[in-house]
Amino acid sequence: MEYLGQYKAVYKAKAGCEDILAKSQDGGIVTAMFAYALETGIIDGAIVAGPGDEAYKPEPMIATTVDELLAARGTKYSISPNMALIKEATRSYGLDKIGIVGTPCQIQALRKAQLYPIGLRDVPDKIALALGIFCMENFPYQGLFQMVEDHCATKIDNVTKMDIGKGKFSVYTERGVNSQIPLKVTHKYEQPGCHVCLDYVANMADISTGSVGTPDGWSTVFVRSAAGEAAFNKAVEAGWIIAESMDGVKPGLELVTKLATEKITKNQSYIEHRNHAEHAALKPLRNPYI
Ligand SMILES: Cc1cc2nc3c(=O)[nH]c(=O)nc-3n(C[C@H](O)[C@H](O)[C@H](O)COP(=O)(O)OP(=O)(O)OC[C@H]3O[C@@H](n4cnc5c(N)ncnc54)[C@H](O)[C@@H]3O)c2cc1C
Ligand code: SF4
Repeated sequence: MEYLGQYKAVYKAKAGCEDILAKSQDGGIVTAMFAYALETGIIDGAIVAGPGDEAYKPEPMIATTVDELLAARGTKYSISPNMALIKEATRSYGLDKIGIVGTPCQIQALRKAQLYPIGLRDVPDKIALALGIFCMENFPYQGLFQMVEDHCATKIDNVTKMDIGKGKFSVYTERGVNSQIPLKVTHKYEQPGCHVCLDYVANMADISTGSVGTPDGWSTVFVRSAAGEAAFNKAVEAGWIIAESMDGVKPGLELVTKLATEKITKNQSYIEHRNHAEHAALKPLRNPYI
């Protein structure tokens, strides 16, 4: 299926270790994959979205220990410019085998940087494992903050988890689910750039993962590249990841396909709308080569 990108295999999967699962967003795939890769020398560090100074404001960070990976678990629904640390990972940290997690747009940027490494000399060959996370939309931090404080009846400092799924934005505190708001309320807070985004499932990652398609506590995992396949299969063999067939899993790939198609067709028509002559002010955003 075109909108799901090319992949070698797809699984319902989760981390084999309860400590990783405990505070992970979904099946703990990102943390378990990086932890396994770190322990076995597939990578010597990973660029992740660490906790920032403010609650749920991600701060890109280079994790070189499993404890640092654990500290970065969970989704922060705001922009974490992980790509910005690539050069530092090689130069300041001296990493030769870098892991990196990113949204689909970040993985696209990573692949582009590997192809055209302007300002990133020596870096392209050092990306050992790129993990992509599914992404429907993202929020500027101020938007996320307002959304929580205005609609979710709690201070953002009290939030223990945020999640988007089943048509709702859910906010959890120590007491459990605190509030759930329909996504029609969250739309106005979205980052406008997301409305021209044409990738839902990180088509260019070595492995991409998200919650959609599998039951709570599990993840849907697309294994895409040879490097991703080798690392994933070894992690499964070693018990770091539990992987099962997607056959018969509900809602399964049908829902992933539906959401990918909805995102891409909606955003494609928005791009066409922006290209219309009436929106002349936005013309510089057109493809300059046509
Ligand atoms: C903005 C956004 C939108 C998303 N939308 C969807 C969606 O529509 N459908 C869906 O199925 N899944 C979506 N996801 C992915 C989902 O929320 C989980 O991140 C994914 O399933 C991985 O879970 P895990 O348990 O394997 O990860 P964990 O083991 O908990 O690790 C998560 C990893 O992601 C990193 N991370 C956290 N926030 C960010 C960020 N903002 N940018 C880059 N890296 C980050 C963390 O540092 C950590 O390394 C979205 C994620 C983000 C950040
Ligand atoms: S919707 Fe697209 S542009 Fe926006 S953060 Fe997600 S991948 Fe990036």
